[in-house]
This record gives sequence, structure tokens and C-alpha cells, in this order.
Amino acid sequence: MTPIDLRSDTVTQPSDAMRQAMFTAEVGDDVYGEDPTVNRLQDELAARLGKEAGLYMASGTMSNQVAINAHTHHGQEVICHRWNHVFNFEGGTAPAFSGVGFNLLDGEYGTITAEQVEETIRPVSYHYPQTALICLENTHNKAGGTIFPLEEIEKIHTVAETHGLPMHLDGARLFNAVVATGIGPADWAAAFDTVSICLSKGLGAPVGSVLIGSRDFIDQAVWVRKRFGGAMRQAGILAAAGLFALENNIDRLAEDHANARQLAESVNAMDGLNVDLNAVQTNILMINTAGTGLSEEEVRVRLEEHGVLVHAFGRDHLRAVTHLNVAADDISRAIEGFEKVTADIRSAGE
Ligand SMILES: *Cc1c(COP(=O)(O)O)cnc(C)c1O
Repeated sequence: MTPIDLRSDTVTQPSDAMRQAMFTAEVGDDVYGEDPTVNRLQDELAARLGKEAGLYMASGTMSNQVAINAHTHHGQEVICHRWNHVFNFEGGTAPAFSGVGFNLLDGEYGTITAEQVEETIRPVSYHYPQTALICLENTHNKAGGTIFPLEEIEKIHTVAETHGLPMHLDGARLFNAVVATGIGPADWAAAFDTVSICLSKGLGAPVGSVLIGSRDFIDQAVWVRKRFGGAMRQAGILAAAGLFALENNIDRLAEDHANARQLAESVNAMDGLNVDLNAVQTNILMINTAGTGLSEEEVRVRLEEHGVLVHAFGRDHLRAVTHLNVAADDISRAIEGFEKVTADIRSAGE
């Protein structure tokens, strides 16, 4: 039997219909701005987020880091949560390519408060680095797909405005937040100057992210993307998959959320495994393995032997992510796999 792959929502296979859309895509040289499909994707996503313009990127990392580079100067500082992707999982790009440091904050479920931000913004004095940008993440990957409450985002926006600071949203999974809350993408995006959206996560495209912002900002980001090696030619072949994903794969994210909830509740009821059910808000669950007496890596290997692939996330945690190639009956099979593993561990302990 093929294993059930819950390592990430990036492992999805493009469907036949998505491949057909790619096959028939109208293309041109996007470095000349002449790829109609890329242009359509950029315009479509910008419109949905209530902003002026978008820029197609090879990855979410490129999209976030181009934004950081265009928002900042060397020696300046970015405020974000300690667990954010831009700090932890992007290869150290911000210090390496943009010469900026991070001023890191802690907070529940990957969130930070307006109060914390206010305290952390540097006074204007040549003793200090200059605060240049505030970066939030929604939904939050490392915290387990948690949603950043809109109310707090708006309060942070008020603080940012007072200090004349821009805000960037790492919205790799923003559409998961949209579907889970019913709050529209433009409402989520309103507080931010720029937003990065991934098409290759739950939306199921093979490649691509889009950076969204004002026309002026995106004009500047075109230069930065070129410097980062991200100016592509007939990229419409790829962008077509992104457009297909926007049209077909947003509403169905609700299924992924229901599957994650079901898996979380079942796993949490098993001996030795714990899931913070309050954190299971979208398509990610973090499973605490401390109660098994084994390391998370040992538990991961045993799950793999039973046909369930998850990601060992460190600190006694496994991460499982639901996506469009995991159906409800796959979740039942995954639950059986977890049951076998916990039963084996229990009988070995007796
Ligand atoms: C996946 C992800 C990204 C971008 O990752 P790439 O692999 O570079 O596309 C950015 N932010 C978050 C929160 C992510 O989960």
C-alpha cells in the first residue's frame, strides 16, 4: 500500500485538470512583462487581496525575502515572532542578503501583541539599530497552523502607523485562515503593506508564490527579484497551475481542516501521545510524543513502518499536515497506523 504522506502540504501532486491547464497556458517572456498567464495570476491575486499589484515568485522564501530586502536597508531590524518562517526556515537569507537583524518576540501560538511591538520598536537614536519592518505569519506553521487574530493585527497596525513602519505578512497559508474563519482575504490583508501567498502549499500547485503590494512597491520588488535570480521567462506554464489552484482548490481546504481535526482528536486520545486541540485550527497538527518514552524520531520511524509519514519537528514533537491528496479514508488508515504504534509501545512497556 502506498504510504499516507502527512509530512507537509507541499507533497501534493498536480491533478490531471491542473496539468491540462498548464499544458494549454498562453505564455510569453515574463522578463519583458509579456506573459499573459503570469500577469493574470498576479492581477487576480492582487484583486482578491485588495491591493494594486502582484509579483510571481519561484518560492515563498524568495517572496518573503524579496519583500524584506525591498522594505529595509543594511543595519536595520525586523520585528517578528521567534518561531517565524522568515527567521528560522529561510536559510539565513535576511542577514546574508539584506544585512538586517531580527528582534524576536515570544507569544502564544505564534502570535505577538501590539504592546510587545510598541515596547520593541527602537527609539530614534544613533545608538540603536533602526526598526524597519514588522513581520507576522498567518497561519503560523511552527505553532501548528494557528490563526493570528484579526483584532490584534489591527492593533499592531495602529502601532506601526504611529511609528511610520511597514508591515509584511508571511501568508504562505493565508487561504487556510480565510476558509477557517470566513474572514475574506482583503480583510486579512488590509493592515499589511505587503503579503506573500504560497500556491504550492495547501492550494496544490507544483511551484510558486506571489508577493502582493502597492504598484510602487512591486516595481521596486521586480529589481530585487532580478538580483535574487528569480526573473523567469515563459513562467505562465507554472502560473497556470496557480490560477487553477485559486479557482478550484480554496473552498476544499475545509476538508483538510476537518481531516486534521479528526486525526488530532483520535491521536490525542491514544496512550503517550498528546495534541493541543486548541492549536488545531486549520490543516496542521503538532503531536507531543514525550509520553511514549521514545524520541519523536523513534516514533516517526515506527509510524513509517505502518505506512504513515510525518515530520519529526524536534522538541518531542511530530508534525502532521493534511492536504488534497489525503482523503477521509486515508485519515482512518492513518489513525489505525497510530493505534498500532501506540499499542506496540504500550505492550513493550508492560
Ligand atoms: C512554506 C512556507 C514558506 C515558503 O517556503 P518555500 O518552501 O520557500 O516555498 C514561507 N512561510 C511559511 C510560513 C511557510 O510555511
